[in-house]
Amino acid sequence: MPSTTPIADGADLTLATITAWLRETDAAALAELFDAADRTRRRNVGDEVQLRGLIELSNHCRRQCAYCGIARDRKDLTRYRLDREQILECAATAKRLGYQTVVMQAGEDPAIRADEMAGIIREIKSRHDVAITLSLGERNDDEFQLWRDAGADRYLIRFETSDHDLYDIIHPSLPYRLSDRVAILKRLREIGYEIGSGVMIGLPGQRWEDLARDILLFRELDLDMIGVGPYLPHPDTPLGRGDVGREIDPDEQVPNTEEMTYKVVALTRLACPEANIPSTTALATINKGLGRELGLMRGANVVMPNVTPSDCRIHYEIYPAKACITESAEACFACMLGRIHALGRRVATGKGYRGGRNTRN
Ligand code: SF4
Repeated sequence: MPSTTPIADGADLTLATITAWLRETDAAALAELFDAADRTRRRNVGDEVQLRGLIELSNHCRRQCAYCGIARDRKDLTRYRLDREQILECAATAKRLGYQTVVMQAGEDPAIRADEMAGIIREIKSRHDVAITLSLGERNDDEFQLWRDAGADRYLIRFETSDHDLYDIIHPSLPYRLSDRVAILKRLREIGYEIGSGVMIGLPGQRWEDLARDILLFRELDLDMIGVGPYLPHPDTPLGRGDVGREIDPDEQVPNTEEMTYKVVALTRLACPEANIPSTTALATINKGLGRELGLMRGANVVMPNVTPSDCRIHYEIYPAKACITESAEACFACMLGRIHALGRRVATGKGYRGGRNTRN
């Protein structure tokens, strides 16, 4: 028997109702949830799927996040950093494949100098009519402002969990600066970015209500982009080895399963109808055959094909057995196109700001 009440589009989601839906196991009730999310997606962002070309600029990082396969203390990892010409080449590939957004992501790498990055943003903007999304970690306000002035449109920074104790375990602050990603998101909004964030599902020590609060925080922050994916343990990390963590009642532990991820995608769509929500690579990793498609059918409207050179991409290993790390950019594009058309959806032709709009509000 379902323990949840029937869900209406735009349902009034509270801590109690979200928690009940997260715990729901009845197949018919979940089918109703997924249908409601799909209808809400169609009504608010349409049938177009946004393709964002992802460039992983550098796998150097000064942080020691307990779950992350490219964290500072991983000594046996080949590190790389793309130079300006390589980045410009990746951006040209993205544009040639028809992507309307270039996403530049990296570990928190101080060697990515703010002024050089601003120059790269300006150059891409002068060569191509694309939106630019950055995901370069916790930087200071002057750097965020410089990149915004250079033409960057969006900034992604995941808060990973809204529970402060769990956050401190998985994401230690730098010795000289407290990590407060929610405060950073608010600053980025003031500076004029579209803002994106997200969480991991099934972190050890994550309780049902913690995850429900994450979804409420998405709505409170009025996020433009929201990425959620299952926690995929990396065996060479403190969290993956079980060296750190917190003890909770096993009945309270959120599982890091595929089905939980779909529930969170669907509830996120209902909580934030106009947001851009990717069907993530982590989902494609947990179900290589159909994970991306099922994400798109249960609330998501974005995919992020990789345009990083494949000899570098294999070293951007936040979690193991990541999907789509050896294919060329062209092969990724062809694969995505086939999957999108098979769903009866189409590739977006505009830049895909919040609400499926082609210009900023
Ligand atoms: S999650 Fe991000 S900031 Fe943390 S160690 Fe990995 S790349 Fe660095």
